[in-house]
Amino acid sequence: MRGQSDGDVLDEKGGSDLSGKRMASGKLDRIRRRAGKFSGLHTRGSIPILLGLALLAAIPCCAMGQAAKTESTLAGSWKGELGEGAGKLHLILTITKLAGGEFSGELVSVDQGASLPMENVTLKDDAVRFEVKAVGGFYEGKWNAARTEIAGTWTQSGVPAQPLKFRRSVEDSGAKEKTAQSMPEGPKEKPLSAFVDVVVPIAPAAFKADGKWHLVYELHLNNMDRWNYQVTRVEAISGDAAARSLVTYTGAGLEAVMRRPGQPGAAEKAKLAPGTMGVVYLWATLDTQEAVPATIRQRLTVKVGTYPEEMTIETAPISVGRQAIQISAPLRGDHWFAANGPSNSSGHRRALIPIDGHAAIAQRFAIDWVRLRDDGKTFHGDEKDNKNYLAYGSDALAVADGVVSEVKDGIPENIPGENSRAVPITLETVGGNHVILDIGGGRFAFYAHLQPGSLRVKLGDTVRRGQVVGLVGNSGNSTEPHLHFHVENGSSPLGAEGLPYTLASFEVVGHGEGWKPADAKGPAEVHKNEIPMENEVVNFAEKP
Ligand SMILES: [Zn+2]
Repeated sequence: MRGQSDGDVLDEKGGSDLSGKRMASGKLDRIRRRAGKFSGLHTRGSIPILLGLALLAAIPCCAMGQAAKTESTLAGSWKGELGEGAGKLHLILTITKLAGGEFSGELVSVDQGASLPMENVTLKDDAVRFEVKAVGGFYEGKWNAARTEIAGTWTQSGVPAQPLKFRRSVEDSGAKEKTAQSMPEGPKEKPLSAFVDVVVPIAPAAFKADGKWHLVYELHLNNMDRWNYQVTRVEAISGDAAARSLVTYTGAGLEAVMRRPGQPGAAEKAKLAPGTMGVVYLWATLDTQEAVPATIRQRLTVKVGTYPEEMTIETAPISVGRQAIQISAPLRGDHWFAANGPSNSSGHRRALIPIDGHAAIAQRFAIDWVRLRDDGKTFHGDEKDNKNYLAYGSDALAVADGVVSEVKDGIPENIPGENSRAVPITLETVGGNHVILDIGGGRFAFYAHLQPGSLRVKLGDTVRRGQVVGLVGNSGNSTEPHLHFHVENGSSPLGAEGLPYTLASFEVVGHGEGWKPADAKGPAEVHKNEIPMENEVVNFAEKP
């Protein structure tokens, strides 16, 4: 934990938390496709039946390889026209040959601004066939000898078959450039709405810390439009009619709470290019429990490309989560320092990691507990010796009655230091030797980095609150002996969502790394039913 960073854990160089940079690869792409209401690709007489709304806003493009090189295959770009006169539809097929020899493809109806998947694309001798199930249609045609044209018919339910000819597009790359050049940078007309998909991965549960109440959660913003979006304001409001503001972020404040997964160095985090995702880390602080609303909504203001007017959307209300669970302390004794503890910028807080296809922040409220000596240091003598650290060998305690749902042992300890892991860090080893307790109600308590051979429990054991589960060590993704502790909603080191909790009672004696008893200003503050915050120096009871 020494050298812990307050930056983006996904690209930082390593606190001793579970969120090392090795876990950073992969990006969640949780775009829920916004299906356009597509009423047909057929023309009736000469009038095309248009889309209900051209929501997909597809851009004709996408050359897949060059025609000259792909003439012997169906793969490539094909253009066709359906119908005649004013109602004529311009179509572009983009066909790809997959590794297994099958074809896949996409049909773009340029005039309708729609992009539709082609299914069951087949080529038998010179017969070409594909279906577009989205509009209940199919095409059958014949390839000419030169492989430059396909002539056939388009059949769609309820409409007589129509002739449709495709020509291989030989201007693939040129067309692409032209499209890029002529593309405007914003809509001419006021958009229907801001096409941003706002996902709240897990609703916040109110908890108390430092005498106030807090709601901590994230928004995943997916720009599903073809324009650049500049997010200018993010506000959490109460879901009732009063729409009371809970927290507002703009300007530099907004930049500070946004991240773009997969783009850790992004300069303007609130600017979302088409098809990209941003994460907003919210932290609303309220003076009293009465001020905690039953439901919350999100109010977002964005600038859509160069369109002059900003657009504001409000999401549907979601319920605030159940109250934080009360547990007892995971450790005993004085002068425990809450490294990387709850704050809106701590490494743990920001560690959004996709595991098995789901991006979660298991460590949202995690704390790396180290113990300070009277000189403010965590060790004496040789800093490369685990035994010289005050935290080393401390009892890690069951925070509630529960059942052991996961154990891991046998991982050798690291020599203290930033780059001295004893084993390669994988999903298996990241937490080191660890214990997870199912403490009921869908909550799990996670204890990481324990000494090998120190586990006092085995899988399936029933444990009582205060029972020793193992000894504090320095295994896994850890730089010095400490207890990484968090509560989450599943039995997995990283593949679950971190939940807030409160401790029945603890004392805060000071703040900051290097704090010494001599620095104490006045008596310790007693905190009840609160969670310790980042960098607090805490005394726990000898008897939890
Ligand atoms: Zn940690």
